[in-house]
This record gives sequence, structure tokens and C-alpha cells, in this order.
Amino acid sequence: MTTELEIGLYIFILAGFLGYHVITRVPPLLHTPLMSATNAISGISLIGSLVVAGANYSRLSTTLGFLAVTCSSTNVVGGFLITDRMLKMFKKREEFGIQHRRFNPKLLLALPVLIIVLLVLMHGFRRSGNDAESSAVFAAAALRYFYIVSAVLFILGLKGLSSPKYARKGMLLAALGMVMAIAGTLFHPEIVNYRWITVGLLTGGIVGGAMGLRIPMTAVPQRTALSHSLGALAASLIGISEYVRHVAVGLDHVKMTTIGLEVVIGSLTFTGSLMAAGKLQGLLPGSPITYRGQNIFNITLLATVVGTLIYLVFAPAAITLFFVIVGLALLFGFLLVIPIGAADMPVVIALLNSYGGLADASMGFVLMNKIQIITGSLDGTSGFLLSLLMCRAMNRSAMNVLFGAFGKIKKEEVGAAEAMGTVRSITPEELTVLFDSVRSVIIVPGYGMAVAQAQHGVSELAKLLSTRGIDVKYAIHPVAGRMPGHMNVLLAEANVPYDQLYTMEQINPYFPEADIALVIGANDVTNPAAKNNRNSPLYGMPILEVDRAKSIIVLKRSLRPGFAGVDNELYYDPKCMMLFGDAKESLNSLFAALKS
Ligand code: NAP
Repeated sequence: MTTELEIGLYIFILAGFLGYHVITRVPPLLHTPLMSATNAISGISLIGSLVVAGANYSRLSTTLGFLAVTCSSTNVVGGFLITDRMLKMFKKREEFGIQHRRFNPKLLLALPVLIIVLLVLMHGFRRSGNDAESSAVFAAAALRYFYIVSAVLFILGLKGLSSPKYARKGMLLAALGMVMAIAGTLFHPEIVNYRWITVGLLTGGIVGGAMGLRIPMTAVPQRTALSHSLGALAASLIGISEYVRHVAVGLDHVKMTTIGLEVVIGSLTFTGSLMAAGKLQGLLPGSPITYRGQNIFNITLLATVVGTLIYLVFAPAAITLFFVIVGLALLFGFLLVIPIGAADMPVVIALLNSYGGLADASMGFVLMNKIQIITGSLDGTSGFLLSLLMCRAMNRSAMNVLFGAFGKIKKEEVGAAEAMGTVRSITPEELTVLFDSVRSVIIVPGYGMAVAQAQHGVSELAKLLSTRGIDVKYAIHPVAGRMPGHMNVLLAEANVPYDQLYTMEQINPYFPEADIALVIGANDVTNPAAKNNRNSPLYGMPILEVDRAKSIIVLKRSLRPGFAGVDNELYYDPKCMMLFGDAKESLNSLFAALKS
């Protein structure tokens, strides 16, 4: 006979395949919203947390459940809000030629309300009726169907991300699925106390709401990393609660394995993601922190964690060992991320996204909750796919990213950079003369554009150039900025038309014909060393070939390197001129000079 575990595994694998097909259809310009959307959906761990917080298991379980509810609801509210903010920046429905129909999608909210009313009636019937047992069975069955509908809505939501046209509508469906799953869970038969659930939901809702509404788009990467850490913490706390609850009565091999995986993956993702957020926020050094024998130490630590976990599966009563594993996994997550720095952080975030999904799915196995298995699998697949895509974009292997300490600057390289030659600078006024005779300009935005919030200035300048009959194209590198699709989101915010945005593969053949490559706060993604210098840490990463343009103008504040910490030989190219200063201010001056 098929066991619950086997059914769970079937669901996990099939959801992974489904996720693969849905997520491979998401275009690169929606990769950042995809990350925050999967992040919000993986907040479904909330439903397991609600039960633990509201059931009368023990004081410890209630406390851990409350913390998990707070973390998960922060992710749900923050994730959906920030995804919506990003998607709103893309074109409006009318611009896609989609007419508004009389039907208001908000009416769909009536669906969960209707189902909640049904559940309330059902519970009322159970209280008043004689056949309480059959009513309870009916309630549990109704909850399962709720979850099935929610899972379908999540998948439709992710499918909507295959085009900016339907993305917001899709996310509305996913949010609807979340409301249904949460509302249905509130009627779970094991929930007897709503006090800590209410406090947790309110706290998480307020924190998540503030994060979702107020965080600037430039800080989206660190917010995403922070949400991964919160989601993973929730999974880990529930794992600890389940272990403590069941250890006295005995844990079978399957239960111990799933709890162990949940706690280990959750804990290492928690500290790893916190480190990633700290690095991206600039609270910790962005360059890799390395020491002799680091990889061997990390692998030994991981082997110790796995070995201890296997031992625990056969001797689950060893409580001290269980907590030792938790501590070691926390330490491993921290040590895993410190040697990774520089240009590899996007891959790390996506990989941690995938680990977060696995922690979530493990929680689904522990609680035997199918919807959590589905969303965990979707989240895991999405993160894994995105990390593979990014590795491909940087021409690196995942092993090299994780264990290569990429971006560590060697002293000789710094010395070599000083001997590269002379740098020419230009003023906005001088630049206007150059613009008099050009016919085509390729704009190359990078992280500096995001920092300076210069996207609106870029868009205004492009419009002005277009009115002068100059052909303007934007070159978008897959890892420009700090998130996949980061530049697309910012340019969409500034109403730049899609048809002017070109991917790296599309734009590179145009550079030799371009009169000016206008580089705005981009650095690593333009560094010719990635093509020419075998000793450069960037070697092998495909770049935007701005060095092939007839002339190159770079807007940045200094000659300082970018995220990878590698000097850019482009600035010493005789065709290159530097317009030093904050990108927004430089663009304003250039715009004013061109106008006058
Ligand atoms: P970058 O190499 O990090 O360079 C950004 C440049 O912007 C800096 O050199 C800086 O120079 C300049 N800048 C900063 N503030 C500025 C301001 N206010 N005005 C003008 N310029 C300013 O950026 P990138 O070329 O976009 O490359 C992205 C890098 O980040 C890659 O190495 C990529 O692998 C990595 N990364 C990408 C992602 C992703 O998914 N997209 C995520 C994490 C990391 P000054 O200080 O001289 O001004």
C-alpha cells in the first residue's frame, strides 16, 4: 500500500517538474519579481506555523510557533507587496492593448469569503449536531480541498509571470490562494488558542508591510536575502518544536529524517542568507573572507553534520546531539557564505532561495502537509534554475562559485592595474559637442545607476536623443546590478519602452556600429579583462562588448572597482572618456547642457 511518505515524494517530484516548465518560461526581465513572488508563496510555511502556535502542545511549541508565524507572515505580506510594486512598474494593461472589462478581479476575493462562511457554518453544525465525529472528518476533508485549490492558484500565479501582461493578475491569484490557505487553516481542528497567532500575524503583517511598501528598489536584493533567512528560520523552529514534541514518545526513522533535514537545511539557510543580506547591505565586507584549508574545513563540517544526522535517525532520543546539529548547521551556513563574495552573490541568493524551498518542503514532510511540499518544491526549483542561469551568464560552474573564493584581489593585480595607462575625462558641456554628430547610442546601465537613482534621468536623456533622430538602445547584462533582472525593473519604473531593451546576446553585435556606448554606473559587466586576461577573476564571464563601440563614455564617481573588486582596463582605452560624478547629477548636467 502507498504510504503518506511515498505520496509526498510523488508530489514533490511532480511539482518540481511542473515548476521547471512554468519557471523556464519566465523571461529574464521578470526574474527579480519571480524571486520575490516565490519568496512570498513559500511563506505558506505559515500554515504549519499557525497550527503549532495555536495548538496546545507545550509552552515551548507555542513560543516557537509564534516566532515562526511572525517570520512567515512577514514574508507573505512583504513578498506579495514588493512583487506588486515591481510589476506595477511594467506597462499598464491598456498599453498592452488589454481592455478593461466590467469584471473587477477583486470580486475574486468573494471566493475565499464564501468558503470561510461555509466552514463557519460547518463548525456551527458540528457544535449543534450529534454526529460530531463525521463533521470533524468533513472539516478535515474540506481543508484538504482548500489546499488543492490554493496550490492550483499558486501555479497559475507563477505561470502569469511568463509575461508582464499577465504578471499582476497572476500574482493576484497567488495571493488569493494564500488567503484561502491561511483562512482555511485557522479552522484546523488542533488550533485551540488564537492569542499568539493573532500577535504573530499582526507583527509579521506590520513588519512585512513596512518592508514591502517602503524598501527602495535598490535594496531589493538584500530584502530577498533577508526573507530567505526568515523563511528558513521559521522552518527550523517548527522542526525543533516537532522534535521536542515527539522525542519522548518516540520518533520513527522517516520522521526523524525529515525533521533532521528540515532543521539542518533551515538553519544553514538562515545564517547563510543573513550573511548574504549583510554583504549586500554593506554591513559586512563584500570581498571573500578566506583562510588556509577553508574548503577542507567546510567539507569536514558538512560531513560531520550529515554523519551526526544519520546517527540521530537510528538514535533519535539523543537530544543533546540534535541541538549540536542545529548549532553546527548554523555555523556551516555562516562559513559557507563568507568565502563567497564579489560577483557571485546573485548566484548565492538564488541558491539560498532553493535551499529555503527545500527546508519548506521538508517541513511539509514533517507535518505531512501536501501544499507545503508543493510550494517548497516550486521554490526550490525556481531558485535552482535561476542559479544555473546566472552561472551560465557568468560562465562559471556552481562548484567554482561555492568554493572558488572568486573576486579575491591579489596584490599583484592591484599593482598591474596602476600600470594600465592614462585616463581621459570629459565634462557634460564637451560631451554635448560629441552628441552633435552621433547617430546611434547604446546605453549600458549598471549598479551605479541604481545607487544614484538615475533611471529617470537616463530615460529623459534617451527621449531627448531620440527626438534628435538618434537611435537609442539599452544593453542589459543578465547580472548587471545586484539581482537578476534588476535593471529591467528600474528602467520599467522610468517608463523605458521594452523594445529599446536588448539582452547581451542581442546587443553585442550592435556595438561596433554604435557611435557612443554610454556606460552609466556599470563596471564589471563591461570589463574587457573578462575576455582578454586569463589571470583576471572575471575571466570567462560574458560581457557587454562596449570596447568595440566607436567611443565610450563612462559615468561614475571614480576609478574604483565594482562589485568584483577588479580594476577595469576599459577606462584606460584611448576611445574611453570618463564623466566623473554621481550618475544622476552628471545626467542632469548633461541634459541641461544638451537642452541649452
Ligand atoms: P559594478 O561592477 O558593481 O559597478 C558599479 C559601479 O557603479 C561602481 O564601480 C561604482 O563606481 C559605480 N557607482 C556607484 N555609485 C554610483 C553613483 N552614485 N553614481 C555613479 N556611479 C556609481 O556593477 P555592474 O557593472 O552592474 O555589475 C554588477 C556586479 O554585481 C557583477 O559583478 C555581478 O556579478 C554582481 N552582482 C550581480 C547581481 C545580479 O543578480 N544582478 C547580484 C549581486 C552581485 P564609483 O564608486 O567609482 O562611482
